[in-house]
Amino acid sequence: VSEEDKTEDYLFKIVLIGDSAVGKSNLLARFARDEFYPSSKSTIGVEFQTQKLDINGKEIKAQIWDTAGQERFRAVTSAYYRGAVGALLVYDISRRQTFDSIGKWLNELHRCFGCMMHILFALPHVCIIRKWFFMDMNSLHFICYWTAHSDMNVVTILVGNKTDLKDAREVSTAEGKALAEAQGLFFMETSALDSSNVTAAFQTVVKEIYNILS
Ligand code: GDP
Ligand code: MG
Repeated sequence: VSEEDKTEDYLFKIVLIGDSAVGKSNLLARFARDEFYPSSKSTIGVEFQTQKLDINGKEIKAQIWDTAGQERFRAVTSAYYRGAVGALLVYDISRRQTFDSIGKWLNELHRCFGCMMHILFALPHVCIIRKWFFMDMNSLHFICYWTAHSDMNVVTILVGNKTDLKDAREVSTAEGKALAEAQGLFFMETSALDSSNVTAAFQTVVKEIYNILS
């Protein structure tokens, strides 16, 4: 490992979104701590959890944000999405209504990102006109770099969780795959209960963000 490689530092903000009780908090608990809560309450939600990943020999930190149950009241605010470069959009394969909500979540994700871009691009002009205006040039740089390289998209994976509930399945794998393809999303089916594909789902997002940036 060269000196240069060692000093390079990546931190990606990734958000968990999707209807209430689809298993977002448990996916994070399984990924970050290898834990599972059979009857979890919204109180297990942490604000975010930072997890190190090894991608092509590089250490990358993923800062994964979980809701504290606001999705129950459709009250996930734009602050939650701000600065996110990746998203896991989760539904429950045993509850079709959570799959039907995916479009709503995609709209919210894209709308919030659009708002943020608009504000950020307006800021430099504001700065020139009003010298007292303060802004963080580093974050602006990063965001501009990001948009130039990513077509203003948050790298998103559609996640069909609870594959262990085989007998209760209401959404087929083919349907999930088709929706992901139509929307340009990655796709994976997971189970936070039996651990299948959980690490792979997070890794897919982080790896793709890394590929776009490098
Ligand atoms: P959130 O509201 O999206 O954060 O969902 P939670 O992580 O709190 O999970 C809601 C409920 O689903 C809890 O009772 C979990 O134990 C359960 N759950 C989460 N993931 C799975 C899974 O992969 N399989 C099964 N069978 N249950 C799960
Ligand atoms: Mg939760």
